[in-house]
Amino acid sequence: MPVDSSLPSAAARVRAPLASLAIAAAAFAGVALLVPAATRGDGGGDAAHAGAGAAAPALDPARVPFEAQAPDFCGEACLSMALRYWGVETDQYRVHALTGVAPELGRGAWTAEMNAATRRLWGPSYPSPWFELTGKEGEVETRFRQLASSVASGTPCMVCCRYDERKEASEHFRLVTRIDPATGELTYQEPAEADGAGRRMTKERFVGLWPVRGSNGPLLILFPFPAPPAAARAAIPRLPDLAGRVVQAVRRVRARVPADFHLGVEGPFVIASDQSPEEFRSSRQHTIQWAYTHLQAQFFPGGLRHPIEVYLLNGKASYEGHVEEWFHERPHTKYGYYSPAHQALFMNIATGGGTLVHEMVHPLMAEQFPGVPSWFNEGLASLFEQCGEENGKMVGLLNWRYSGLMEAIRTGQFKALERLMRTDSQTFYANDQGDNYGIARYLCQYLQSRGKIQEYYQHFHAHSGEDPTGIASLRAVLGGDSMEKIQADWLAWLKTLKR
Ligand SMILES: [Zn+2]
Repeated sequence: MPVDSSLPSAAARVRAPLASLAIAAAAFAGVALLVPAATRGDGGGDAAHAGAGAAAPALDPARVPFEAQAPDFCGEACLSMALRYWGVETDQYRVHALTGVAPELGRGAWTAEMNAATRRLWGPSYPSPWFELTGKEGEVETRFRQLASSVASGTPCMVCCRYDERKEASEHFRLVTRIDPATGELTYQEPAEADGAGRRMTKERFVGLWPVRGSNGPLLILFPFPAPPAAARAAIPRLPDLAGRVVQAVRRVRARVPADFHLGVEGPFVIASDQSPEEFRSSRQHTIQWAYTHLQAQFFPGGLRHPIEVYLLNGKASYEGHVEEWFHERPHTKYGYYSPAHQALFMNIATGGGTLVHEMVHPLMAEQFPGVPSWFNEGLASLFEQCGEENGKMVGLLNWRYSGLMEAIRTGQFKALERLMRTDSQTFYANDQGDNYGIARYLCQYLQSRGKIQEYYQHFHAHSGEDPTGIASLRAVLGGDSMEKIQADWLAWLKTLKR
């Protein structure tokens, strides 16, 4: 599947339930058009667009912002440009959130879904955008005059038309910002091209491209975008853009992996896998969805605000081969890892789900606690390599790192908790002073055993500016004890653990 952002997708834009089309069209005729916008009294646009009752000002195409579309987001980009023209702070990703398209479909909105978005913004009386063509003389001209009069009175209008004259051309949304009263020439925003602002098209060419295929025959599609109501103006800037960005990640992942890979979405995670269907379902639900829900509830409120690609690769050959093929890098670990550069998790899932939960912690930490020292980043991630649920919470359980840690303590390689907590990243990863991961993990499990791990995270997160190592926070949540006392208690607790 092509993901060239300069081209609209081949997906048809027009997939609408057309049962009551004639009625809808008649209703639209009764409403005429939603123009002039300024007389609707619900706009609150800037002064240039206001002035209720006065002659509506013509639309100045130069004042309509331009937004190049992400792949398949032509409708979203057009509506976003119109909303921004009316002074609403938004973008195509936020607009996508209004369309209700399931992110795993990996596509932008079609006409019916754009219609759902406009009805959410302008209310249920928003007129139907579909006009069925019956072949009667002059009917295209009538609709063209409606389009021209709407634009002339200050309302940007979105049309759906074929991309060009080729027979296989896809259907595509464009935003019309002016129609020359003398010649009928259109000025429009072409979202599919980076320099698509203020494009021109003759009326003759447009009229040839405008009719699109509906299930009952040819259709014209026309969305007027008058000034949005106050409630919508307030709500749109607060919409999350995550779903729209997830759609784009789905498209990238789908283009990358073989056709027989499973593909799924869990929140911000776009997951591709060559596991069996049962294993894939289990990884999605029992590992990713379960762990993400608990990680949000216990440590990372609100979760991730951007998508993460997750590749669950079934065995060494698939893991090493696919990571190399897709990303031109060699995995440095046989279990799996988080790549900040690719915003992706690469997993040899045949080695189990523990590493997956560990790696899920890292993007959350990177986004919500960017200054975290490596010892705590790896300690908390490692805590959940072996985990279960107790009283509704995710808890880390004793794991394979225990014997390595006890060995480091027995042989005197382990020096001091405080020393570990003062390590910088370089030292933590490069100079292993007696199992740094093990010490960090079992300090976290100790805090968990005292019922203090969430409190510690929150305290450390809040005070990391003045306490970048987390030592002061550790002492604070453990009742003010000295580091010597904390270490002695920790060592004693370690001895009580049983493999
Ligand atoms: Zn890690």
